[in-house]
Amino acid sequence: MVSNNPNLTLALSLDSADPLSSFREKFLIPQHDGKDALYFTGNSLGLQPRSASDALKTELEDWATLGVTGHIRARNPWMHYHELFTSHLSEMAGALPSEVVAMNALTVNLHLLLVSFYRPSGTRTKILCEAKAFPSDRYALVSQIHFHGGNPDIDLVELEPREGEHCLRLEDIEKVIFELGDELATVMIGGVNYYTGQLHDLKNITSAAHKVGATCGFDLAHGMGNVPFELHDWDVDFASWCSYKYMNSGPGAVSGIYVHERHHNSGIPRLEGWWGHEKSTRFKMDPDYVSMGTVESWQMSNAPVLNMAVHKASLEIFEAAGGIKKLRERSLRLTAFLEKTVHEVSASTGVNLEIITPSNPEHRGAQLSIVAHGQGRDLYDKLSSEGVIVDWREPDVIRMAPVPLYNSFEDIARFGIILEDALRNSRT
Ligand SMILES: *Cc1c(COP(=O)(O)O)cnc(C)c1O
Repeated sequence: MVSNNPNLTLALSLDSADPLSSFREKFLIPQHDGKDALYFTGNSLGLQPRSASDALKTELEDWATLGVTGHIRARNPWMHYHELFTSHLSEMAGALPSEVVAMNALTVNLHLLLVSFYRPSGTRTKILCEAKAFPSDRYALVSQIHFHGGNPDIDLVELEPREGEHCLRLEDIEKVIFELGDELATVMIGGVNYYTGQLHDLKNITSAAHKVGATCGFDLAHGMGNVPFELHDWDVDFASWCSYKYMNSGPGAVSGIYVHERHHNSGIPRLEGWWGHEKSTRFKMDPDYVSMGTVESWQMSNAPVLNMAVHKASLEIFEAAGGIKKLRERSLRLTAFLEKTVHEVSASTGVNLEIITPSNPEHRGAQLSIVAHGQGRDLYDKLSSEGVIVDWREPDVIRMAPVPLYNSFEDIARFGIILEDALRNSRT
């Protein structure tokens, strides 16, 4: 293909030089006017793998032909279905296989983990989180504090960025942790902030929390499948994520949790169910609970196989692509290309497009959040009418994520052309 737009020419050559470009074909791209839409909202809902329907069909067929015996005789025996995710999730989370399990939904899991890791006592009653956390996380934290008879006005400490800044600085987070000292029970922060796209330094936040005797966990909704983690080595106590954003497992798909192995048999409280019971004796149906002795002891119910079938198909694609570290390399290049494109459009149109996501690639994942100064809803409507799918936050913030599995450099260059056009026309 030839083009007279230099950025598009560059994009096409970057696409053809990257072997991972072919992974786009493994996904169904939403359509606009008979062409692929420019889909940049994989941070909100990842696209459907083409293999998803076959994965679902496999389980539906086995259910049809085997009935209850599918628990053991299905091609992927349902009894052990959650174990299919262990190696994938441990690679993505940087965790031991005994430290990760797929189960439930994200907010549910945050509550279950807080039952274990937020145990206010004496003067140690406070939870530290980021200001303007994802609303569901804040609701969960406030209701946990109420549940323990505390007062959220006192016990929930919300970290604000400095005046005039959008992101939090590590030194400020550490300072507040040390100031709170033995009043701090738990730190729980979004590992990648959903609004700014800032990737936090989980290692140093955890270390600071531990120095004052607090537990430390992260919501990795915008992190898992986006950037690699080393949760075990960083000594993180607990984490949870959803699988429908960067993990492309479908609307409302199964969540996952991580619990550091030192907590597995430490006697900390936990809400329990039969799927956390030692599996070799689970079906003796004894009245007394014997723990699995791993993170699976936080698991309560048998695996929701139809929900998890797409998760399986999706995680197999990550593996085929060489894993999260490999994808991160491509992601860094894609996001840098988007950043460059936005800067160029800003320069050529004179519109101040301020990227509030950190410019240091180590402090961000795939997402860029852009403030389109002086623009409004009109801009979003124009982008939409040209087949650009981005997230718009009132009054003027565009959040967008070039996802390394299915977005191309070409998508980004085409977005740049449409954005430039929209901004020029808005000024005439
Ligand atoms: C997407 C997201 C959620 C959604 O919670 P569900 O329980 O999956 O509905 C919660 N917290 C954060 C930080 C998110 O990004």
